[in-house]
Amino acid sequence: MAELSLPFKSRYFPIKKFLDVYQKSLEDPEGFWAAEARKLYWFKTWDKVLEWKPPFARWFVGGMLNASYICVDRHVKTWRRSKVAIYWEGEPGDSRALSYSTLYREVNRFASVLKNCGIGKGDNVVLYLPMIPELLIFMLACARIGAIHTVIFSGFSAQAVADRVNDIQAKLLVTADGGFRRGKVVPLNSIVDEALTKCPSVEKVIVVKRTNSPITVKAPKESWLDDLLEQAALFVEPEPVESNHPLYILYTSGTTGKPKGIVHSTGGYLVHNCSAYKWVFNLREESVYWCTADIGWLTGHSQIVYAPLAHGAATVIYEGAPDYPTIERWWDIIEKYGVTVFYTSPTAIRMFMGYGEEMLKKYDLSSLELLGSVGEPINPEAWLWFYHYVGGERCPIVDTWGQTETGGNMISPCPGIECVPLKPGSVTLPMPGIEVDIFDEDGKPVPMGQRGFLVIKKPWPGMLLGIHGDPERYKETYWSRFPGVYYTGDYAVKDKDGYFWVLGRADEVLKVAGHRIGTAELEDAVVSHPQIAEAAVVGKADPVKGESIVIFARLKEGAEPSPDLKKELAGHVRKEVGPIAVPDEVYFVTKLPKTRSGKVMRRVLKAVANNTSIGDLTTLEDASSVEEIIKAYQELKEGEVKKK
Ligand code: ATP
Ligand code: MG
Repeated sequence: MAELSLPFKSRYFPIKKFLDVYQKSLEDPEGFWAAEARKLYWFKTWDKVLEWKPPFARWFVGGMLNASYICVDRHVKTWRRSKVAIYWEGEPGDSRALSYSTLYREVNRFASVLKNCGIGKGDNVVLYLPMIPELLIFMLACARIGAIHTVIFSGFSAQAVADRVNDIQAKLLVTADGGFRRGKVVPLNSIVDEALTKCPSVEKVIVVKRTNSPITVKAPKESWLDDLLEQAALFVEPEPVESNHPLYILYTSGTTGKPKGIVHSTGGYLVHNCSAYKWVFNLREESVYWCTADIGWLTGHSQIVYAPLAHGAATVIYEGAPDYPTIERWWDIIEKYGVTVFYTSPTAIRMFMGYGEEMLKKYDLSSLELLGSVGEPINPEAWLWFYHYVGGERCPIVDTWGQTETGGNMISPCPGIECVPLKPGSVTLPMPGIEVDIFDEDGKPVPMGQRGFLVIKKPWPGMLLGIHGDPERYKETYWSRFPGVYYTGDYAVKDKDGYFWVLGRADEVLKVAGHRIGTAELEDAVVSHPQIAEAAVVGKADPVKGESIVIFARLKEGAEPSPDLKKELAGHVRKEVGPIAVPDEVYFVTKLPKTRSGKVMRRVLKAVANNTSIGDLTTLEDASSVEEIIKAYQELKEGEVKKK
């Protein structure tokens, strides 16, 4: 993995302070986390910091708290009542700013609506809403009364909605008359109608008005939110819940297989995320935070909703597509709201890179102080582009590693304590209180520089409570590979400075002639070619080598696909990674199959290349990407037949 020179000035050296905090946190993790937990508000203090009955961890046992109290009630008792909590930007250009006092009032009214619909502590509520303030308000309203929310990304199909609703046996579903996406209305209500034909558990549907689509609401099961709000009380007592009462259930992205319903606690989850947020994003009162993830993902739950609001910070939410009405929309939003912390994904950065940096020059991005990346390994080229052009060479980039299961970020620079020197493409060092390592096949720690499986050695507060309804799958997925440690499923390496580099998914690692190569290593090499915008690499079974390397690449605008370019690219990868990495097949495609969260589904490409079953596609973004790849493969086969 290429190590590029550090673009940072000496003010970030040395890192003694960070290492001191880290060291102390590991010497006494329970004492460390208890001190962090005391910074939140508890109705009753815990009896025990950690109850660890492997593989189940319960944090702050006996402690009583309420997430909505922490996120809103606390702030309205201070000057923050008039501070903006949410800057919301609708896709058509409408906008709303909600102060903490407005948010407080709305959360109470929505909580009253839920109660009037018969929802109480422990009931499952599904929120299938666009990125509008009502989504956040409903999440907090559920938390207020101890109901458990499951947010379903509003781009999912009826089948994906039905699968999740049935898995958790939801009693109530909240949706909207539609959502805006690229100027069109997504008919959420009719998707729900279709889904609910298969969901007997749902007793009640609440519909939020967003697009003014001419839909009919079928009473008594369905009601408009506005009608229910007429009967709503202005105050609902927050329900104190035990720390391990589930705050929510959220499904993983489905990048590697069928999504898992991950259950998160209230106390541990909030403690982890509040601490992580202030360390990673260098929390300051006047900051304006924009995390571009959808609220339907863990990153959105933690970094748009719970962590910023718990801190009384201002969070920006944008409803629509990044390229609507033009590719400049995001830069316009940064300028408009004076965003100081901008947190996005490598996929988005690579997409913007493909359009060139000229567009950035039209906007004043000088408010930016800190940039962040999450979701996938970021290739050094994209990192440097982000650093130079978006951050104006002044903003550190926090590349944060976490999973839906971890509940929050685990490995990342922590400028809120002290920013370690950055290396483009590395997630740097584990965060305080987090003990991670890299194991070989046999479960032994590997020496620095050697690749292996990323594991977490000690329980941490944001850790999942389990997989909903499936303790066996929980044990099997995370705890059976290596006894006593959490298996992340990611492949990684630690460099000579102890920095971590995530090299891809463990089950996507290629084994070529006895060597293991992570997909990210190969893909970094492919996209460092000047004509390539994006790439995915998979292995194809090969009787001699074990696996051969197959590349799927999307060209930059203006580049022409040709057999010569294929050869050139193969040579380029060989030069970058070494003679072992000579690709056997190169395909140019116009799009790669991705999950709705923007991650490449390599398992689909692998299935096509190996002629095996494609598996669960409910979280796929665009089915035509798969069709294109199948077609490219068929053409190749026909070509081979003709040659014979
Ligand atoms: P599923 O588990 O259903 O296959 P998923 O793993 O994509 O889906 P998430 O929990 O959203 O679902 O993603 C977590 C994964 O994303 C991590 O395991 C890792 O592979 C990848 N990831 C997240 N952040 C980073 C990062 N900064 N660098 C490298 N990889 C990352
Ligand atoms: Mg995963």
